[in-house]
Amino acid sequence: MNYKIRISPPHMGGEELKYIKEALATNWVASSGRHISDFEKDLESYLGGQRHVVAVSSGTAAIHLALILAGVQHDDEVICQSLTFAASAFPILYQGAKPIFVDSEQDTWNLCPRVLEETIQDRLLKGKKPKAIIVVHIFGMPAKMDEIKTVSKKYDIPLIGDAAEALGSSYKGHKCGSLGDFGILSFNGNKVITTSGGGALICKEVKQKDRAIFLATQAKDEALWYAHSTVGYNYRMSNIAAGMGRGQMETLSAYIEKRRANHLFYKNLFEPFDYIQVFSETNAEHYANHWLTCIQFSPNKANKSAMGLLQALGRQGIESKPIWRPMHLQPLFKGCPYYGGKVAETLFENGLCLPSGSGLTDSDKQMISNVILEYLKT
Ligand SMILES: *Cc1c(COP(=O)(O)O)cnc(C)c1O
Repeated sequence: MNYKIRISPPHMGGEELKYIKEALATNWVASSGRHISDFEKDLESYLGGQRHVVAVSSGTAAIHLALILAGVQHDDEVICQSLTFAASAFPILYQGAKPIFVDSEQDTWNLCPRVLEETIQDRLLKGKKPKAIIVVHIFGMPAKMDEIKTVSKKYDIPLIGDAAEALGSSYKGHKCGSLGDFGILSFNGNKVITTSGGGALICKEVKQKDRAIFLATQAKDEALWYAHSTVGYNYRMSNIAAGMGRGQMETLSAYIEKRRANHLFYKNLFEPFDYIQVFSETNAEHYANHWLTCIQFSPNKANKSAMGLLQALGRQGIESKPIWRPMHLQPLFKGCPYYGGKVAETLFENGLCLPSGSGLTDSDKQMISNVILEYLKT
């Protein structure tokens, strides 16, 4: 469908073409060139200067590389937050490993630290220690990282932070992506910034970065001929895409302010409706970029629902989307162990993601607000 207002479309800042032209003019158009290392440096300094960044072809590729670096192999178990986009979990299958899904907690909608620990204890009892934990900062909301890190350290299991949706979010002043043992970002077209398609792996150590680049560029051993002793991947970001990323980095802060302003707009809009909750930070330790603003419906006399609103918006050419459907409910992952209750499932059943792009205009907001108020009118 051709929507008039889309949920999170790409937003150009203005300088992208300058960098792309430079890539073309210098003929550095493939998997090496100055933009790649400069984009990595931009990201490293944005994330606080303590981490090493590898620019790759997608966020999914970054998760795959993180699993490989964490030592995940065939038949290993990997714990993953159930409430997420499927790309958080697909790379577990690429490795021939087995996903173990865990429920969310109510405050951040992310991996529940208590259920996480119960899961690890039960897997240990069953005779296998999970090889990695994937925690997601869903819709840009930072997870309860201190509690989760404590569990990951106690059992000595590497922690991968999926910050695909959370560039610019922070937890206790530390940027999402730079928390945990590995982090990943996505620059897909619907994310906070885009490189058309792209992603980044964030490592603690430079030797991990070197290893990731080696794996992402077909694992060519040092020799005069083509020598391979391990499986390689074609996962490196192109210099053209990286040039676009450099342009996008210049307007990143403004984009985040815009997304947070959208969230405030919805907070005010839904204020009079006590059966609708706008997903928000529960305390100042969590700073969300509000990549998407999401709402939750509770049962109400007016019989209004997330799917009712989705359809009302759709009829007027306004795109909205359900919350990610939890992985333990997906046919693909049928038979994978799941720990927890119905937090993720209930969020999915009653939730809706609203138009949240950084390019949303005042007239867009007026139109959205008219349609929403009309639908909620009794
Ligand atoms: C978008 C997304 C990914 C995948 O990123 P791509 O760049 O599209 O491969 C992974 N995890 C989450 C939570 C995402 O939203």
